[in-house]
Amino acid sequence: AKERQENRPKEQSEWRKVLNRPLGKIDKSPMAQQRRRLPVYHQREALVEAIKNNPVVVIVGETGSGKTTQITQYLYEEGFAETGMIGCTQPRRVAAKSIAQRVADEVGTELGKLVGYSIRFENITSPDTKIKYMTDGMLQHEALADQNISAYSVLMLDEAHERTLSTDVLLPLVKAASKRRPDLRVIVTSATLDAAKFSEYFGNAPVLEIPGRTFPVEIVWPSKLESDYLAASLMQIMQIHMSEDEGDILVFLTGQEEIETACERLYERVKALGPAMAHTLEIMPVYSALPSEMQSRIFEVLPAGVRKCILATNIAETSLTIDGIRYVVDPGFVKLSVWDPQLGMNSLKIVPISRAQANQRAGRAGRTAPGKCYRLYTEQIFENEMSSSTVPEIQRQNLAHAALMLKAMGITDLLSFDFLDPPSRPALLGALVELYQLGAIDSEGLLTRVGRKMADFPMDPAMAKVLIRSADAGCAQEMLTIIAVLSMPSLFYRPSDSKQRDAADRARRRLSDGTGDHMTLLNIYNTWAKSGYSKQWCADNFIHERTLRRAKDVRHQLAGILQRYQHRLDACGGDAQLILQVLASGYFRNAAKISGTVYHTLIDNTEVAIHPASALFGKRTEYVLYHTLVFTSREYMHNVSAIQPSWLLNAAPAFFEKMDTNTKRRRTETIKPLFNRYSEHDDDWRISAQKKYVKY
Ligand code: ADP
Ligand code: MG
Repeated sequence: AKERQENRPKEQSEWRKVLNRPLGKIDKSPMAQQRRRLPVYHQREALVEAIKNNPVVVIVGETGSGKTTQITQYLYEEGFAETGMIGCTQPRRVAAKSIAQRVADEVGTELGKLVGYSIRFENITSPDTKIKYMTDGMLQHEALADQNISAYSVLMLDEAHERTLSTDVLLPLVKAASKRRPDLRVIVTSATLDAAKFSEYFGNAPVLEIPGRTFPVEIVWPSKLESDYLAASLMQIMQIHMSEDEGDILVFLTGQEEIETACERLYERVKALGPAMAHTLEIMPVYSALPSEMQSRIFEVLPAGVRKCILATNIAETSLTIDGIRYVVDPGFVKLSVWDPQLGMNSLKIVPISRAQANQRAGRAGRTAPGKCYRLYTEQIFENEMSSSTVPEIQRQNLAHAALMLKAMGITDLLSFDFLDPPSRPALLGALVELYQLGAIDSEGLLTRVGRKMADFPMDPAMAKVLIRSADAGCAQEMLTIIAVLSMPSLFYRPSDSKQRDAADRARRRLSDGTGDHMTLLNIYNTWAKSGYSKQWCADNFIHERTLRRAKDVRHQLAGILQRYQHRLDACGGDAQLILQVLASGYFRNAAKISGTVYHTLIDNTEVAIHPASALFGKRTEYVLYHTLVFTSREYMHNVSAIQPSWLLNAAPAFFEKMDTNTKRRRTETIKPLFNRYSEHDDDWRISAQKKYVKY
């Protein structure tokens, strides 16, 4: 507990106060002069010529060589903006905004006039805007309305090697637009490694290299691996500060909270060195939610004898370049959006970086002088446990959701969509089957109205559907709670002491609902809420309080998403029949029917049993819906509720059919239109698209 307290940033710590104090001078040399010092400046003519003469150009160059800030300006100065805007996409919101600000300063105009930016919920552009920075997601949104992207004369897909889902979706769209519009100029910037691939994708587009000035960087490996990389980072920073020559330090951490904690602790350590040393290290955080005026401090020039220590997320890997860094500390982790099957949505996870990322990070130390990169992982981990490059989002995220997004963009035939790295065919077909059964696409593969709504939700389409349906049916309040609690590990604890255990079981029975576990969970959450979210109540009822509190947090996030898309958050007064029907609309694949003393799943006839901890254990309910299957000594259904078979039919008419009791013969009809369209040769599809029968 003490450890955790130390981890949490205190509200008004001393460090926070000093964070706002004025710093050294800003580099006053004229911007024009600074611009001429950039490596890209020497390539200006060659770049402009190549872009004039080729519809698509791939540009590679050291980070910091001036690609993002300069090329748009060169093209503007050469008259490329006469017939449309010069657009430049960025994978990150902060980068789009901060680069637009820098370019507006360089051009000498107010942001939002000649130079503007557009990120979600923030559109700082005007009719005068000629140079526009935006997230790749925003351009994707614009392409939805106008596939020719006709507002632009030049499009620069910057940092394409990052391979965000939006960039991967944009590449084919831009390629197609380029074929239709010979006047459109496309620039793709990429790390050296991927340049050939992009060039080939765009019909062997020319690759231009911007030679950068780089200095050697010495890699320093640790003698042994520290389990706590945050503590190891702090130690490394102090060691550099105390014993290395002048030069700034850049540390790669994973997110805001971690960075703030590290800043606080570092501040305390430097202070402890005594008054003479206390002001020799200027600690600067950089993360996406940091206000931009704080962010721009990293570019300020400090008085002699003061060293900068920048603690940044991977935004400082490629998007932002800070001059003067000679020491990089790399713990080897990054926060990535990955598919979480338990939560049923994409969630941020801290994962090891790739070797390509590690090398990019190291390179940041050699921009202005020879440098050192301190890795906090061993060479053995680097060689054997890190992947060579980051897997593109399109290959690591849930495809049902990605496919739904593409459908929402009007792309009807995903299987022949011109992806740079197509997802595997079975994965894509599986996603289509799932969307079809959920009613998000029709038998022709076209997006339905509910499918269009589901596309807005950053989560598993089944969960999105349940939430949307619950809003329409007036039970969103209840459903938010149930979904949030379901996405947590078990709420209950059973003490080992037999007397205590009996008390726990009694408490659990008191809280149980006759329809099953879903309503029981709702009941528990509501009773806890009524107790004023009481810790004591949880203890008295043998419920994990921490798990409930996490559920409360997830619930809040889910509610925010529903509200963002103007869905109403009504309550139905705990109408179990209504709530369970709405649940079935998304989770109908998880249905089972009793036969004798066991159950069989409807989807593939697996023998399953109700888990002894369930509220339905020992009750003979004909049809049940479960949330998960967990195999221990046998296949157990967890979180089970009683349902009516007719609900399944209503929930998924493309998946279930009522069994005609007069004919004993079981027909297995395939869904013809989908079958013909997508899978002449695919048996997987044939099996998964079969209808299942319910009898009642
Ligand atoms: P690239 O896209 O090739 O990585 P950029 O165009 O982003 O390079 O950056 C070119 C130079 O401009 C870098 O040296 C960087 O330090 C500088 N720079 C970028 N933004 C700012 C800023 N807000 N303040 C001062 N310098 C900046
Ligand atoms: Mg750049």
